[in-house]
Amino acid sequence: MTLCTLTIQQAREGLRAGQFSSVEMTREFLARIHELNPVLNAFITINDVEALAQAQAADERIARGEDTPLLGVPIAIKDVLSTRGLRTTAGSRILENYTPTWDATSVARLRAAGAVFLGKTNLDEFAMGSSTENSGYGVTHNPWDQTRVPGGSSGGSAAAVAADLCCAALGTDTGGSVRQPAALCGVIGLKNTYGRVSRYGLIAYGSSLDSIGVLAKTPRDAAIVLSVMGGRDPLDSTSVDTPVPDFAVAMNGSVAGMRVGVPSEYFIEGTQADVTTAVRAGIEQLRQMGATVKEISLPNTRVALPVYYLIAPAEASANLARFDGVRYGLRVPGEDLIDTYSRTRGAGFGAEVKRRIMLGTYALSAGYYDAYYIRAQKVRTLIKQEFERAFEEVDIIAAPVSPTTAFKIGEKVDDPIQMYLADVFTLPCNLAGICGISVPCGFDAAGLPIGLQLLGRAFDEAAILRAADAYQRETSWHKKRAGDRA
Ligand code: GLN
Repeated sequence: MTLCTLTIQQAREGLRAGQFSSVEMTREFLARIHELNPVLNAFITINDVEALAQAQAADERIARGEDTPLLGVPIAIKDVLSTRGLRTTAGSRILENYTPTWDATSVARLRAAGAVFLGKTNLDEFAMGSSTENSGYGVTHNPWDQTRVPGGSSGGSAAAVAADLCCAALGTDTGGSVRQPAALCGVIGLKNTYGRVSRYGLIAYGSSLDSIGVLAKTPRDAAIVLSVMGGRDPLDSTSVDTPVPDFAVAMNGSVAGMRVGVPSEYFIEGTQADVTTAVRAGIEQLRQMGATVKEISLPNTRVALPVYYLIAPAEASANLARFDGVRYGLRVPGEDLIDTYSRTRGAGFGAEVKRRIMLGTYALSAGYYDAYYIRAQKVRTLIKQEFERAFEEVDIIAAPVSPTTAFKIGEKVDDPIQMYLADVFTLPCNLAGICGISVPCGFDAAGLPIGLQLLGRAFDEAAILRAADAYQRETSWHKKRAGDRA
């Protein structure tokens, strides 16, 4: 048996029972990472020495009879979350040598719960992208087919979970970056409600959209991590003081009586046929398990993409102003201050990041602000209200995650619009601030994984986790591993 295939739940049971130590487990993971990372490039930084020290400390705590939810469990962290003493690049060359002196709250809470940090995973620069091709540290390869992308922007985290390089990983989701790579890599991707998890210490992209989520092997594991990191944090005024429920109680294996809405706008031309077929079959499975399925309509879905691509770049252009060569990371000295700014940003930022800064600056500039940014915010409110109305009639919404399975590396990278369309089914959730999960629901003709997306009301992660867990108990899509492919 290899310890690398274990879920968090199994790892905790084994550690508690003394079947293996955290040091043994961590050594196995590190060995596997060193073997596969040269091919997959899922990690930007491997935390060899410190991870073993953390594992050693966890073993000592276990020996003393301590029992915390992640004690001794090896986890990977998307490299856009600040980690004390561990380099944090955001996938950008502008932060190549940046080592934070503090932990993001989500990371601090995992640390306090006993997690072992294996390293920092690759991502599209500043989380802008859908394929992890925009990274300043090379492309991540999909473990199911190395000629294909893992999705993005949390592609490193999704590939690491799929390739058994960690028990679970943190990701971030601004427009789909947890759910879409989870779908393309055949793992669970939980995007939490906006405000559920503190964003303190997350290097900001679109502050009104960013959320921290979990890439995991089972819904239960995702729930364990959410329970640890969720809840109010005085350091983030947008984190909400709502109790984090005991998801284990909610995950009772039943969807009997649950009302599932199926929005017609998510079943459109242009979606890969086997994606639609697998997602429809997944919904039928929920019906057979006792859920009631109902067609619904979310007409504003069609404007979500343009709304998102006004709001996200606008916020990004403001958030990225801090990378000026003075306060953080790279500095390319110029003749004067302005020249230093432009040389530093010119050398440090990649093409997609510059594109977003230009789009955002334009949308926020005098004379255009009302026409673009304010208009987009108004339409966003309509999208949110549309979801609220839908959730009066249904408990969860089921849809595809991504219109396609994993695409070839290089296929969309020169065509931003095609790349942006990869998130057409995930962006509305972020605009509305609700929660969503991606669950493996089949394979395409080429054997690549497909994800079923379940969306829930704000702060009702319990409902989508319950449905995802019940679905996974009845199906075996998740049992096929990336490594099983010939
Ligand atoms: N692909 C989308 C974008 O580039 C979403 C990214 C994300 O969720 N971080 O903005």
